[in-house]
Amino acid sequence: MNNLAQFKSKLITIALLVVAIAIGLFILNFKGCNTISPEPAPTPTPEVTPEPSFEPVEEPVVEEQPEVEPEPSVDLESEDSLTRYVSQTHLLSESYVPADLRKVNVHTASDQQLREEAAVKLEEMFKAAIDDRIYLKLVSGYRSYQEQADLFSYYTQTRGAYYASVVDDHPGASEHQLGLGADIGCWNGACELSYCFTQYADYTWLQENSWKYGWIERYPEGKQSVTSIVYSPWHYRYVGVDEAAKIYESGLTMEEYYGITD
Ligand SMILES: [Zn+2]
Repeated sequence: MNNLAQFKSKLITIALLVVAIAIGLFILNFKGCNTISPEPAPTPTPEVTPEPSFEPVEEPVVEEQPEVEPEPSVDLESEDSLTRYVSQTHLLSESYVPADLRKVNVHTASDQQLREEAAVKLEEMFKAAIDDRIYLKLVSGYRSYQEQADLFSYYTQTRGAYYASVVDDHPGASEHQLGLGADIGCWNGACELSYCFTQYADYTWLQENSWKYGWIERYPEGKQSVTSIVYSPWHYRYVGVDEAAKIYESGLTMEEYYGITD
C-alpha cells in the first residue's frame, strides 16, 4: 500500500510538471509571435529626419503618342459623302434625302431602307453572322428629317429634354437621316435598343466583325463626352470598308480619329 501511495504521489508530481511545462511553452509561444526564444526588447531609436536628397530626380520618360492625322481625302462635310459627319453642331438640312436609298433585304420588323452601298454591306454582314450562328435584326435604318423630328419631340415629352438630346434623335443630327445609320438587335427582339443587348453573343460578334463590312460601333461605352451621345451598343454607322478598318484599328471614335472638336 505504501508503495502504491508513493507511486500515486510520483504520478501526480509528473502530471503537475507536464502541466507546468505546457503552460510555460504556451506563454512563450504566445508572447514570441511564433518564436520560442523571446526577442530582446528593442532599444528605442531617435527618429531620424531624412537628409534632403540632392540626387537629381529622374523625369519619367513620356512616350510620344503618335499623332492621329486627320485623313485629308475624307469628306466630312458633303451631305452625300459616306463619311459625312453629323452632330448637333453639324446638322443636315431639313430637305436632305439620300438619292440612293433602297430597301434592305435582311430580317426586319418592317421594311427598312439604307443607302445602296450601306445596304449591300449590311446584307453581307448579316449573312456572315448567320454563318457564325448569329441571327441579327435590323431594327431601324433610314429616317427622314420629319420622322426624326417627331421622334425627338416624342422623347422630349415622355422622357425630358436631356434624354432626348443624348440619344441620337436630334432632328438633322441623326445618322439615320444620312441613310448610313443602323440600329441592330437580336433576331427575336430580345433586349432591343437596351443595354442588356450587350450580354448576347450578337453584340460581341458585331463589335468584332462589323468593321469588315464598313460599319463601326458609333457611340461606344465611355465616350459620351466625345460624341455627346450616350453609349448606344445597338447603333452602327456605315463609313465604307477602308475607313471602318482604320477607325476600328485606331480604337477611336469618329470624332477622335478625324480630329473633330467642335
Ligand atoms: Zn440609331
